[in-house]
Amino acid sequence: MSDNNFHPPRRTLMGPGPSDVPARILEALGRPTIGHLDPAFVALMDEIKSLLQYAFQTESPLTMPISAPGSAGMEACFVNLVEPGDKVIVCQNGVFGGRMKENVERCGGTPVMVMDAWGSAVDPGKVEDALKAHPDARALAFVHAETSTGAQSDARTLVELAHKHDCLAIVDAVTSLGGTELRVDEWEIDAVYSGTQKCLSCVPGISPVSFSERAQHRIANRGHRVQSWFLDMNLVMAYWGGKTKRAYHHTAPVNAMYALHESLLMLKEEGLENAWARHYRNHLALRAGLEAMGLSFIVDEPHRLPQLNAVSIPAGADDAAVRGRLLEEHNLEIGAGLGDLAGKVWRIGLMGHASRPENITLCLGALDAVLSDMGAEINAGAALPAAEKVLAAG
Ligand SMILES: *Cc1c(COP(=O)(O)O)cnc(C)c1O
Repeated sequence: MSDNNFHPPRRTLMGPGPSDVPARILEALGRPTIGHLDPAFVALMDEIKSLLQYAFQTESPLTMPISAPGSAGMEACFVNLVEPGDKVIVCQNGVFGGRMKENVERCGGTPVMVMDAWGSAVDPGKVEDALKAHPDARALAFVHAETSTGAQSDARTLVELAHKHDCLAIVDAVTSLGGTELRVDEWEIDAVYSGTQKCLSCVPGISPVSFSERAQHRIANRGHRVQSWFLDMNLVMAYWGGKTKRAYHHTAPVNAMYALHESLLMLKEEGLENAWARHYRNHLALRAGLEAMGLSFIVDEPHRLPQLNAVSIPAGADDAAVRGRLLEEHNLEIGAGLGDLAGKVWRIGLMGHASRPENITLCLGALDAVLSDMGAEINAGAALPAAEKVLAAG
């Protein structure tokens, strides 16, 4: 130890990610590094794959972590499934649908946009119209849990529509995995990607992905080589692959994989359904507190994500100043608005390990104190009793 060491402040992370990482996962990260082709590491890779199959609710053997953050999982899905000239229907109801569009374009494909308002779910009626109007489309892409707005779309229905029109379904599940119902096989999703730093509460920097048989067939029958060497699933599989001997492709982030394994073990120990129920229960308590305070949600009730609560900033509150004081005085991070919603909303995450009662009371107490002190228009003192009532009712 020297004065030059970096010692991060102890924060409570209730933004859009990264979320709080529990000590058990951080301890796993600090275990001795071994070779990435060491037989012990290869055995760990197999365990990670099977735990990921559980988390995604899939039996697909093409399920693995990409050694890079959620954005790389997104890119892996698009570069492998979209070829030059392909038409892809892309749904956009927030920031991340816009990135899907970028990906399609960079693969040489043609995106056909289905736009919905920020804060709304993707409208299946509009998607069906687009699929009918573009019978040559080869894929449908949408975000299951739009972290920029807190809206959840009906993945099962959208995938069904895609298949009815001979399209593959590419789904962003970065914020849904582990936090809200997601059933990859039952819903017949063809390509899905997630991230470790949201509801898995693991360190940022890894992206679990899974591809269906239909998607594997599309990849195997491409007319053009995948434009990205690093994300070419044909090559990645030789490293993460099935029965054959592992071949060097890249050096997996060995210690980060220990952490991912630990986080997936924790999810399995809790049980996926229990984790979904916990996220929902805690959302109800936070919601009761925020609404009692006088803040309103920007997403309609049936489409609200329990793990990402977007509320309007009340009159008389200075967005940046409030978030600054929460961080300085309460060591609490909440999320700012993104894109169209910048300066208009706060995004309060209850993701993974951060989704617990003590975080709800910390957040409501801190918000109440800072907003009251600033003279913002809120019902001071109302939030905590309202949340505690819900928490007590279990
Ligand atoms: C966070 C997020 C991403 C990107 O993940 P990174 O780990 O930041 O690269 C993609 N899609 C959604 C919906 C997200 O919330």
